[in-house]
Amino acid sequence: MKVGFVGLGIMGKPMAKNLLKAGYEVIAYDPFAKANLDEVVEAGAARGESNADVASKSDVVITMVPNSPNVKEAVFGTAGIAEGAKEGLDIIDMSSIAPLASKAIAEECAKKGIRMMDAPVSGGEPKAIDGTLSIMCGGPKDLFDKYEEMLGVMGASVVHCGDVNGAGNTTKLANQVIVAVNIAACAEAFELAQMAGVDPEKVFQAIRGGLAGSTVMDAKVPMMLDRNFKPGFRVDLHIKDLNNALETGHSLGSAMILTSAVQEMLQWLHNNDCGSNDHSGILKYYERINGTALNRKDA
Ligand code: NAD
Repeated sequence: MKVGFVGLGIMGKPMAKNLLKAGYEVIAYDPFAKANLDEVVEAGAARGESNADVASKSDVVITMVPNSPNVKEAVFGTAGIAEGAKEGLDIIDMSSIAPLASKAIAEECAKKGIRMMDAPVSGGEPKAIDGTLSIMCGGPKDLFDKYEEMLGVMGASVVHCGDVNGAGNTTKLANQVIVAVNIAACAEAFELAQMAGVDPEKVFQAIRGGLAGSTVMDAKVPMMLDRNFKPGFRVDLHIKDLNNALETGHSLGSAMILTSAVQEMLQWLHNNDCGSNDHSGILKYYERINGTALNRKDA
């Protein structure tokens, strides 16, 4: 199977490399991330000259770009995937975008004879490298069945969330709400512990195995304690996801109280030159209010 891969950023690069490792023929392209494209070509991929060129040489094209406008541009823009698509091409969009946009893009693709599935991921760069992402799929079940094994090369879990395009992205929005609120809760709680004079490292060791423990806590609290805000997952991408969650929630009349609060924290970070920090940087919002920096040594 010839797999086109469009978008070779933090996530796309290791995902494409895992497909190559598993023996898939990959044709890769990214108009901006030249060093990453070179690295994927070095690992064995064919170099695409444009998104259309990739589509013309592939049975299925995976897109892994930031947001809805980027997916639209990659598919329908000049020299886009739709322009180069040969008959029977399928697209798997693994970007995290608004569910309604997924649906609209899939409908537009269907008019051109292209079938589409949304398959956003959770797990971040380390799990993209290990091939252990959680992959949430939306779209016709037969399309899911066709690509489940291939997606399994990039993910530890591959779940069909619904037959409707956008079902994967709705699942991803739920994931992003829980992650954002969990990070904010960790920042709030560990600042509290330190200000009360208890070593936050000891608090972490004491509670991580109990009910409060979580994958988010294990991944993000050590970063907070090390004051390591290198992404990982950028604040600006999480703003994008929560915007999509709020928009979706508002259109359905679903209450988004905690999401709104954390979105304001992320927006503050963006306004204070921290948009490219890891989202564990939410801690900085609390530190600014509290006037104290979380630190292993300070307690
Ligand atoms: P990134 O910004 O590192 O990479 C995106 C890449 O897409 C860039 O290299 C860019 O040049 C490319 N691109 C943009 N427009 C394009 C176009 N029209 N054609 C071809 N390529 C184009 O972002 P990322 O961190 O890899 O995230 C990609 C998606 O995965 C996002 O939707 C993000 O929300 C989601 N995601 C990211 C993480 C993470 O931890 N980074 C985790 C889970 C999900």
